[in-house]
Amino acid sequence: MQYRKLGKTDLEISILGFGASPLGNEFGAIDIAEGERAVHFAIDSGINYFDVAPYYGRTLAEGRLGKALEGRRERIVLATKCCRYDVNGFDFSARRVKADIDGSLQRLRADYVDLLQIHDIEFGDRRQIIEETIPAAREVQRSGKARYIGITGFPPKILRDVASQAPVDAILSYARYNLMVTDLDDILRPFCQEQGVGLINGSPLHMRLLTDEGAPEWHPAPEEVKESGRQVAAVCRERGLRVADVALRFCLGYPHVASTLVGMSKQRHVEQNLRAMEFEIPPGLLRKIQTLTEPVKNTVWITGRPENCD
Ligand code: NAD
Repeated sequence: MQYRKLGKTDLEISILGFGASPLGNEFGAIDIAEGERAVHFAIDSGINYFDVAPYYGRTLAEGRLGKALEGRRERIVLATKCCRYDVNGFDFSARRVKADIDGSLQRLRADYVDLLQIHDIEFGDRRQIIEETIPAAREVQRSGKARYIGITGFPPKILRDVASQAPVDAILSYARYNLMVTDLDDILRPFCQEQGVGLINGSPLHMRLLTDEGAPEWHPAPEEVKESGRQVAAVCRERGLRVADVALRFCLGYPHVASTLVGMSKQRHVEQNLRAMEFEIPPGLLRKIQTLTEPVKNTVWITGRPENCD
């Protein structure tokens, strides 16, 4: 396993990270024992970066991850989030940030997290995030309950703009660097490099669109993006390949993020994703995929407040 430093922090994290949202049934009900096996197998294989949130399964994922981590907490770098509690349930107040870390720590059976991230900032008021939420997260950091702080979200510009006004240690961007779209590289990478902010890429499989199983019902992309994803999967299948391997390998080949977080709850997916690190994408395939995705490259969709989603 290869490890990279997360920005200016002292955290060395595996380039393949464990996204724990599936542990909260976000992609359908899981076998809990299997989820635990996936966590243990990942740790034993050198995956040391774990990302979770109270939102995933409305605290279910934190609780399940915490149980699976018993006796193993110190072997990993643990990231959780705050401020998002339901599909439409957000609270970016300082009071909530400071109060909720205790619940996360209790569920995670941990004394501290390595990274506390403000979850999906595009749903909040920009000024509040800058003047109230990030300073509150810094207070949590000073209390010792979080070692570093970060922000997460979908539209890259607001992540960059907020971080340029209220410094953070890390930014987690999702579904903006993958086989379908790569604008994380244009918008966030230059800023993070200049400022020494750790950059993390989430949803390399485009929230399951880039798998043979296909996107879940709730996938937020417009139909034309989903259709393009299905065509990419078909082209890989025609060549005897799994689109998930191609999609993950493509992301793992990008050196400007500290880690690529893939959502997992099954040991066989952990095994397959570890193997994808060694996989070589056949010549010509990426060019073919590019012709399929080109028409939808600039198709984005609104998540959060419209004024935050330019
Ligand atoms: P993803 O693109 O990683 O896809 C996950 C889905 O793919 C799950 O259904 C999983 O079972 C399946 N899968 C995993 N490996 C597979 C394989 N080899 N073959 C077939 N299917 C496979 O999407 P994600 O889970 O949304 O993103 C990864 C992680 O990034 C999340 O779990 C979360 O930790 C983080 N994330 C954070 C935010 C945020 O903070 N706003 C948003 C999205 C993702």
